[in-house]
Amino acid sequence: MAAVVAKLLAAFLVALAVSGAGAWEDVKLELDDGMPLIHMLRPLLSTGGHLGRKGRVPCDSWRFAVETNTLRGWKTIPARCEKYVGNYMMGGHYRSDSRAVVNEAIAYAEGLKLSGNGNEVWVFDVDETTLSNLPYYAKHGFGAEPYNWTTFGNYVQEANAPALPETMRLYKRLQALGIKPVILTGRREDKREATAKNLASEGYTGYEKLLLKPQDVKVHSVEFKSGERKKLEDAGYVIVGNIGDQWTDLLGEPEGARTFKLPDPMYYIG
Ligand SMILES: [Mg+2]
Repeated sequence: MAAVVAKLLAAFLVALAVSGAGAWEDVKLELDDGMPLIHMLRPLLSTGGHLGRKGRVPCDSWRFAVETNTLRGWKTIPARCEKYVGNYMMGGHYRSDSRAVVNEAIAYAEGLKLSGNGNEVWVFDVDETTLSNLPYYAKHGFGAEPYNWTTFGNYVQEANAPALPETMRLYKRLQALGIKPVILTGRREDKREATAKNLASEGYTGYEKLLLKPQDVKVHSVEFKSGERKKLEDAGYVIVGNIGDQWTDLLGEPEGARTFKLPDPMYYIG
């Protein structure tokens, strides 16, 4: 116990020192469970409690409504929830929620009886699923600022987004089991090169397909993604699982035999 406290304290002090130097977004720290952190740790601040009360808006309840697809069509997070969402994303809560999802996904996958034909695939989304855009959103109010196509597009082209470590754990486990990853993203074709480069540099290798939205076609996310999943099934693949951070990743037949929703309180894609 003392060792854990010492580690957390050391991480907190490092985070404080680095944030003072203005380069905290590049920090990768380790928790006692050995999982690398993708962002500065703020372990001593919870997402509820004082911050929740100070925000006046019940931000926990707002996030619940978001994650259950009850609140739809929102453009930005409530202004008073910016600190709440920032602490949720950068502290342990987001990682813990992601871990709960991935633990269940792995348990499910390990229980599957595979055909032996190698035709089972698992569909992965990109943004806030395989890759984390926290370095970008930490500089843009964690979703409090309206979405900006230009600045986010430039960020994507840099191809430096870190992997969400929990998703990477699932990805590697599925490959070991013989289930092939398929990457299906709402990013458009002009981002293919940067997306492939970013995925590879973060260790996402050996996937079966990388599917992006056509460049100039106007198509709703659900329509596009379910259409691509239908094509996979028509080609003989069996979609045993599907994971994403948006409900538009998971809705629309064929959804996949089972779907897994990762947390994302920063933005809504309709
Ligand atoms: Mg996404």
